[in-house]
Amino acid sequence: MASSFPSATEDRTCTDCRITKPLTEFFQRGGGARRKNCKSCSYKTTRQWALDNPSKTAIYNKRWYVSRSPEQCEIQRLRQRKRRAADPEKARAALRRWQKENRAKVNATSRKWREENSAWFKEYAIVNREKLREKERRTYRKSSAKAIARARRHQLLKKRAEPLWLTLDMQQAILAVYEEAVRLAKETGIPHHVDHIIPLNNSKVCGLHVPWNLQAIPASANMSKGNRLLFEGG
Ligand SMILES: [Zn+2]
Repeated sequence: MASSFPSATEDRTCTDCRITKPLTEFFQRGGGARRKNCKSCSYKTTRQWALDNPSKTAIYNKRWYVSRSPEQCEIQRLRQRKRRAADPEKARAALRRWQKENRAKVNATSRKWREENSAWFKEYAIVNREKLREKERRTYRKSSAKAIARARRHQLLKKRAEPLWLTLDMQQAILAVYEEAVRLAKETGIPHHVDHIIPLNNSKVCGLHVPWNLQAIPASANMSKGNRLLFEGG
């Protein structure tokens, strides 16, 4: 060690926090001289710089990541495992967040995995048939209100019951009635249909496919009513 450098037993006052600390609390530069600010202030500066320069930090991190030695990899791996074990809830949340932000990557990986393990996947499909069916049913139920509304709208457009001036808000309101029918069916166990209060296809009047002419009622009531007005009688 060159004699011009102060020995490790000397104290130094940090130029940032102005606290006098032993020299070991100051980082050594490449040449051997120690920094003028203390270790904790250096950490703070570095962390702040990383926050201010995210793109550069990402490059440096990546460079460091790929150049790690096998020993460093192992140390890092063990450290990560320890961190995950200390707070599994946080680790799970972080993973979910990452998956959400990297949907394309996740999808590509699972597709590749499915291709490479197609035999396993086929077996899984057979063993878990009921489970997968229930999942499919759930997905269908979720989208069925929308699907029914879309099909019905198409059907009614042909009959010109839907006025051309129907706004997006009104279309939303129509969808809400169909959703209501699905909800009622689920809650009561009785199938519900969307009924046109003034029928679309009556000999005397022609109702419109508009929100204020729609109501969710039990399917049986709707079918017995047919195209009659309620006050018309049988
Ligand atoms: Zn300091």
